[in-house]
Amino acid sequence: MIITIDGPAGSGKSTAARALAERLGFQFLDTGAMYRVVTLVCLREQIDLHNEPAVSDRAAIITIRFDGHRVFANDEEVTDAIRTVQVTQGTSIVAVNSKVRGLLTTLQRQAAAGLDIVTEGRDQGTVAFPDAECKFFLTASPEERARRRQHDLRRRGEHLSIEEILAHQHERDRRDEQRAVSPLKPATDAIQIDTSHRNVHEVVEELEELIRQRSAAKP
Ligand code: C5P
Repeated sequence: MIITIDGPAGSGKSTAARALAERLGFQFLDTGAMYRVVTLVCLREQIDLHNEPAVSDRAAIITIRFDGHRVFANDEEVTDAIRTVQVTQGTSIVAVNSKVRGLLTTLQRQAAAGLDIVTEGRDQGTVAFPDAECKFFLTASPEERARRRQHDLRRRGEHLSIEEILAHQHERDRRDEQRAVSPLKPATDAIQIDTSHRNVHEVVEELEELIRQRSAAKP
């Protein structure tokens, strides 16, 4: 069974998807981490993120591996390195690259083959897994999403004002929603959930209940 959870940054999808996978005993795939790894490697090697052929050539020879919460690029652990403000902003530039998207979508499908999996990102229900059994699209108000992001960054020792975060967020949303290839949008058959006034526990309960209803309704 494939469950897709898409939505913008700060919608709570990563935390909810991870917790849901744990509750159901499913595998979990963080596809944003894959785009982040490509961005980190390119930034370190001073490859211009707007140079699409250079970025996709480099992406084609990176080995991305997950081990629980940990992320590895060519066997080097990059779990924290891919979460910096610089990588976060660069990633939405790399995510516009259609060749990189093609490469990563293929890897995502390979990773999910034959498994029960919760996969989260921006295009999981629309492009990577259009036939997924259950699709969700999480949203939250821009202010709430920025507040969550500020909290995450503080834990990592990065202190940005809400205004700065809102500006970054707005730029990322614009790039993610307006790109020609696989833009961020809900699949027509996705269930949309606003998480603004709900904690993770409540969101995961609701997702589980909706999955149960869906499975029961299937012939
Ligand atoms: O989910 P996360 O914030 O880690 O994603 C980082 C960026 O990766 C997003 O802003 C988006 O540009 C890109 N992304 C994407 N498609 C996905 C997952 C992430 O374009 N499936």
